[in-house]
Amino acid sequence: MPKRTNDGLKKRCACGKRKWAKCPHPWQFSFHAHGHEHRYSLDAVARARGKPLPRSRTEAETWRDLLRNEIRNNVFSIGPPPAAPDGRLALGEVCDRYLKKHVQREGRREGGRELMEFYLAALRRSQVESRKDSHTIRTRLQKTRRNRPPSLLRNRS
Ligand SMILES: [Zn+2]
Repeated sequence: MPKRTNDGLKKRCACGKRKWAKCPHPWQFSFHAHGHEHRYSLDAVARARGKPLPRSRTEAETWRDLLRNEIRNNVFSIGPPPAAPDGRLALGEVCDRYLKKHVQREGRREGGRELMEFYLAALRRSQVESRKDSHTIRTRLQKTRRNRPPSLLRNRS
């Protein structure tokens, strides 16, 4: 993966860019996805999730990467991310872990790695397509969940 620059993070304080890494003011996150800009105060998100407020740039970057992933996979909400129905990992997380652990490791043949990245990207795209109206799907799922035992939901996702 190419090394990321510090895009998507800034502060609104008057300290100036150079002091951002040290000054105590909140980080602002922005990310363009699904055709619009997502902007959040990282403090607001961290507070809503009961996590320590990110102060250093490194902490802010960790949050930024996490939120980007959640937004890409349509699972972002200010509060704690919703767990998959029975506690399994969401598909996006599985892809990420698989990529990190098995595909982007050293010693893997270049051709094999590229092929796997291609497949996982395709898989992820198909998931995003099918989730275009994620709100409707989620609402439907919640209704379904109320009416059916969880075992019937296992094969739905
Ligand atoms: Zn500041």
